Amino acid sequence: MNTCSFCGRTESKTRFFLKGFGDDSFICTECIALAYHSYVEDMEKELMARTKRKKKEVSEDDFSLIKPLEIKNFLDQYVIGQDDAKRTLSVAVYNHFKRLQLKGDANNVEIDKSNVIVVGPTGTGKTLLAQTIAKLLKVPFCIVDATVLTQAGYVGEDVETILTRLLQVADYDVKLAERGIVFIDEIDKIARKGDNPSITRDVSGEGVQQALLKLLEGTVVNVPPQGGRKHPEQNFIQVNTKNILFIAGGAFDGIERNIAGRLRTNVVGYNVKNEDVVDRSNMLQYISHQDLKSFGLIPEIVGRMAVITHLEPLDADALKRILTEPKNAIIKQYTTLFAIDGVELSFNDDALNLIVDTAIDLKVGARGLRSLVEVVLKDAMFELPSNKDVKALLVDKEYAKDKLAKINADKLII
Ligand code: ADP
Repeated sequence: MNTCSFCGRTESKTRFFLKGFGDDSFICTECIALAYHSYVEDMEKELMARTKRKKKEVSEDDFSLIKPLEIKNFLDQYVIGQDDAKRTLSVAVYNHFKRLQLKGDANNVEIDKSNVIVVGPTGTGKTLLAQTIAKLLKVPFCIVDATVLTQAGYVGEDVETILTRLLQVADYDVKLAERGIVFIDEIDKIARKGDNPSITRDVSGEGVQQALLKLLEGTVVNVPPQGGRKHPEQNFIQVNTKNILFIAGGAFDGIERNIAGRLRTNVVGYNVKNEDVVDRSNMLQYISHQDLKSFGLIPEIVGRMAVITHLEPLDADALKRILTEPKNAIIKQYTTLFAIDGVELSFNDDALNLIVDTAIDLKVGARGLRSLVEVVLKDAMFELPSNKDVKALLVDKEYAKDKLAKINADKLII
């Protein structure tokens, strides 16, 4: 007679029997139900614990945990160079957490927030820095593009939609969003430019800046929950921006001229002959708030961006390091892809130098490196998976040169 292997019940005493491995292993309906309930109970416990963990993740105590040095060390794993920006951002983020802790304590001096502005050529790591910080942080973080913002009444998005993104990231938890960090990319594109008025945005660019200023200063903003253009029948979510940290980034093309102009004036003004010590190859390192103003940001905005930092242009050495060093470096990514097919991929030094030199010649910078490596490996990625004899591929200068010769620079994705 068949019996349940768990409770010993005979087949006639239950609705049905499930057969397991072997001739005499069975489970009865009652034991199936019992096992299922235990499973569900366990799952629920796990989910509750997860929610608690999640809650703990944003508790006040956690805000002081990440020290500037730790933030910088983390950034070092993903971003090559850019020391000044890394140190500045690490301190800004750390101070942001400290401000959040002090909030509401009557005995403490209230600390003003120090929004940050990051100036640097395109493709040198501004967005990457912001994204990497986001990986580390336990506060909501979003990246928004200033180019889509327009003054109310013009085609485009209202400035308030910046906060819609933040709310979405915070899963519409307003309290959480109110202590988040927003990275505003391409802030230079809303600079006032007398000689280049845009009728689709607003004539001077100043309207957008004025609207943005309110957010930076700290105010209660009516945020459209789904973003887009505000309309009268809409419900809004009120968000206070007092404790939201804003980090703005931009290339500020041509600002070197403003910097040079100011330095010259100073030299004349103070009658100091320091023109000789100015490193003309990297003028951004001398950037000041004054230069941002003369570029076309209104003084009030500049005043709200207390901290200013710059990114260095990437030279050949930096580009080569970008190829190989970061935690998810491009070469490491392709090595992993090839390893899945059992092929050990390697590049010799000359091949790497050639890829870097090509990126410099084509002026595609760090952004073009991936496309160039893709061009070099395209044939191998097509052929090798079907060729069981090849166990290793060493890309040397000749191999890379041959593949890069076929390059169509226009088709490079950068
Ligand atoms: P931008 O300064 O225009 O925001 P990004 O941060 O988007 O530039 O950089 C474009 C790409 O180039 C990044 O995704 C990254 O792969 C690479 N890159 C740029 N700068 C660096 C850097 N300093 N370290 C590592 N990778 C970099």
